[in-house]
Amino acid sequence: MTLLISEVGDLVCVVQLARAEQSKQSMETLLDRIQHIERHLGEIRESYRFNDLIGLSAIHAALYPAIHDIGKWSSEGVYQFKPTSPETLKLIELRASQANQQATQLLSESAGEALEILSRQAWRMSGFRQVIIIMLGIMAVMSLALGFFVLRQQRTLVALKESEEQIRYRANFDLVTGLPNRPNFIEHLSAAVARSRRTRGLIALLFIDLDRFKTINDTLGHDIGDQLIKEAGSRIVANVRSTDMVARLGGDEFTVLLQDMSDAMHAPLIAESINEQLTMPFRLDGHEVYSSASIGITICPIDSEDASTLLKNADMAMYQAKDMGRNTFRFFTKAMTNRARQFLELDKDLRRAIERDEMFIQFQPIYDLRRRMVAGVEALMRWKHPEKGIIMPEVFIPVAEETGLIVEMGYWVLDRASREAMRWQQLGSAMPYLAVNVSTRQIKGGFCGEKVSLILEQTGFPPEKLVLELTESLLMEEDKRVHATLDGFRSLGIEFAVDDFGTGYSALNYLRSFPVSTLKIDRSFINDMVDNQGDAQLVDSIVAMAGGLNVGVVAEGVETLEQASILRKFGCTLFQGFLYGKPVDADTLFRILIEDTIPDVISEDGRSAQVS
Ligand code: C2E
Ligand code: MG
Ligand code: MG
Repeated sequence: MTLLISEVGDLVCVVQLARAEQSKQSMETLLDRIQHIERHLGEIRESYRFNDLIGLSAIHAALYPAIHDIGKWSSEGVYQFKPTSPETLKLIELRASQANQQATQLLSESAGEALEILSRQAWRMSGFRQVIIIMLGIMAVMSLALGFFVLRQQRTLVALKESEEQIRYRANFDLVTGLPNRPNFIEHLSAAVARSRRTRGLIALLFIDLDRFKTINDTLGHDIGDQLIKEAGSRIVANVRSTDMVARLGGDEFTVLLQDMSDAMHAPLIAESINEQLTMPFRLDGHEVYSSASIGITICPIDSEDASTLLKNADMAMYQAKDMGRNTFRFFTKAMTNRARQFLELDKDLRRAIERDEMFIQFQPIYDLRRRMVAGVEALMRWKHPEKGIIMPEVFIPVAEETGLIVEMGYWVLDRASREAMRWQQLGSAMPYLAVNVSTRQIKGGFCGEKVSLILEQTGFPPEKLVLELTESLLMEEDKRVHATLDGFRSLGIEFAVDDFGTGYSALNYLRSFPVSTLKIDRSFINDMVDNQGDAQLVDSIVAMAGGLNVGVVAEGVETLEQASILRKFGCTLFQGFLYGKPVDADTLFRILIEDTIPDVISEDGRSAQVS
């Protein structure tokens, strides 16, 4: 018994040590001690005498739940500093529940045996001694009852603690991968940053985003998606030291915290090896799945000494890696912060731009050279910033797309442009078709037929004269909602043009399944066509293909007579470009329409004339 009590005291010390050190070794010692005590308990139980009965049952009642409790605590400890060792975790949990079961069994056995011994003793004695024995018996039974009561109390506590732990586990760990989650990671990152401030140690933060994850998830289902995330998590863990931390921030985003690095240049080496591992095929439920990763790297204290800034840095660098064509890594640079700051500033100003009437539209004519008239007009958005002057769409459209503002801006352009077009007609000009750009993020953000139809009703603009310019990537979308939206537009009588044709995908199947009225050959081909035979051939075949499909073809960005002449030879008749007319305000465009000031730059047989 003394041995047992000193062992319990010893165990408490070991537990404290394990808590303080939080090392694998101290955890193993702890496990060792629990086993040791259990072995001793067995021995003591074998040799116990009647006198020990009361003390023993009390110890049973108190010690086993305590072991259970310690077991549970240690599993929590294991969760905290060694989340990737499910084997140790399971072992401790198993031991704890076994101990609890054993405690109940021992206690009932003790109760049985105690009563048996008592009844035997009581029969043998007589008179006063019998009374004493019976009283002792009653005390023993009461102490056993107390033991049961204590055990039950302990159990309830343990059960409470268990659910509390489950809640804590869920709050700190990602259930799919078992890796620490975002709040847990940020806590560790903050602690590591604080340590680095004291020790000047180097920390690298890697932000990893799987490429193509969304496509895999959408096409193969969430189960496979989860399996991919889990497997990717294990591959990342396998590439770092056990002292480094890997976390899943959510979705397909992981982070790695590399601590106490001797050289910052180790970070890209690790990023490279992670990348290499993630490009190897994943075998998931009989599917061979290919992925890769884009990784952003930031170094503490070089880039920042603040946890949330470091996370933002690494995120930004990761996006840069994505922009570089994926499957690569990028270091964070200060220039990225400047860009992000500009982005935030633009976003703030852009939100007020519409209400402050800072947006305006320029119209660029699209000429039909065969019929010698303006066939259509493209509406192009501009922003007159109160301090920065005119800002072009290439700068503000990505910001509006990122923040979702593009949807509202899209309705605004449509409303304003169709009003202007109605005014031209009322003032006596012919009605050209009106081309309005619609981006993929705009459609995905909720730009829809109902609202468009309402705007057209209000402005009186005929839907069949409206052409929405879409990108190839949008038409390639597998998202059913996108197609439902496009069908909605089509049912109103609206037509579609493929903008920047040739830059998106090589697959052209969508042209057969999705009716478009016009292809707009991207400006880059028109520009390079003069010097590059390959581009010239491509333009030639696009024009021929469009003829075969019976769709119109517009050459975008025609700037020189030479380009125009080649295009005419290929049989292209619709031209848009600075050679024929730059984007202009609504009044100027009206004048072009009524004054018939079509620049006589090229005659029908393809020979050039003077430029107006
Ligand atoms: P886009 O739809 O391909 O528009 C044609 C762009 O080429 C316009 O640039 C136009 O000014 C320019 N351009 C036309 N002819 C020539 C030429 O001969 N030479 C050169 N160098 N450029 C020429 P802009 O106005 O800067 O617009 C850029 C892009 O911004 C547009 O490309 C379009 O994708 C987007 N955008 C413009 N307005 C809107 C809008 O209201 N909504 C959406 N979603 N996107 C818009
Ligand atoms: Mg366009
Ligand atoms: Mg274009």
